[in-house]
Amino acid sequence: ERERLARLRHTPSVTLDGEAVELLANIELPQDAPAALRAGAAGVGLFRSEFLFMNRDGELPGEDEQFEAYRAAVQAMDGLPVTIRTVDIGADKPLDRMSLSELRHEHTLNPALGLRAIRWSLSEPAMFRMQLRAILRASAYGKVRLLIPMLAHASEIRQTFEALARAKQQLRDAGTPFADVEVGAMIEVPAAALTIPLFVRHFDFVSLGTNDLIQYTLAIDRADESVSYLYDPWHPAVLRLIHDTIRAARQAGKGVSVCGEMAGDPSFTPLLLAMGLRSFSMHPSQIAAVKQRILRSDTAKLAQMLDAALACDDPQECYRPFMGEAAQLH
Ligand code: PEP
Ligand code: MG
Repeated sequence: ERERLARLRHTPSVTLDGEAVELLANIELPQDAPAALRAGAAGVGLFRSEFLFMNRDGELPGEDEQFEAYRAAVQAMDGLPVTIRTVDIGADKPLDRMSLSELRHEHTLNPALGLRAIRWSLSEPAMFRMQLRAILRASAYGKVRLLIPMLAHASEIRQTFEALARAKQQLRDAGTPFADVEVGAMIEVPAAALTIPLFVRHFDFVSLGTNDLIQYTLAIDRADESVSYLYDPWHPAVLRLIHDTIRAARQAGKGVSVCGEMAGDPSFTPLLLAMGLRSFSMHPSQIAAVKQRILRSDTAKLAQMLDAALACDDPQECYRPFMGEAAQLH
């Protein structure tokens, strides 16, 4: 079985009815890029840059150190696109205490609802611009895409683009080269999914962070085992938000992918294909299994089953066609 999956690496990722599906890798450090290539990834759909900031004694990485790391990932991917997400610090990914003491940080009871991700970046404008400059500089060495986590408000979108414009101006003033980068928004707060036209208007692409989207939609802490039985990606509220986001992005001609765990779980592949998703980003180890499911799927047939499933209250009943082997057999 392992060998069979390994052989899949060079097989194009296309459904039975000829729909091409992009399979991208999630990475945490530049050292993960070779594994992404070995798995046959068409690029990096999510570089979780916060891992450069974690597990350090004291100092956070400066602009040059970040730039070197981003460039290393871009060069390792050998011309394939690399989507670099600005830091998603906070909640389950805290900074160590020494670094924190230099920064604004208040203890919060609900870190997942607190100062994390883009909120943290916007509260540390110099740090944010430094990261944006480092990412932009890496774009001179390959195809870089910029991704912003946890956005929910129009004001955050505006501030993000202002920071980006300033970072670009600083590089131009210094004569430092950088290329055009597409800018994308993570859709992982229900408020963002519910106002998706706003995001589709402002961004070149969107990426669904289903891990957080599920956590916030169902009010289930993704790290709390005592309620993990309620963490249900099949909940109709979650599925409607995912479906609406994919549809809105596609209608606007903007790229849309899923980079949460759902994308790497083959039991969700038929459903996401039925919803129109054609770009999945996942841990490299999942790519072969998801590809295998794609090769056996007929998106036209799957799409026909979607309306009835979406209109249904109990996923255990109505999503059965999408859940298991049934979806593969025609
Ligand atoms: C997500 O929330 O689904 C996601 C991809 O981001 P992270 O898991 O890093 O929060
Ligand atoms: Mg997230």
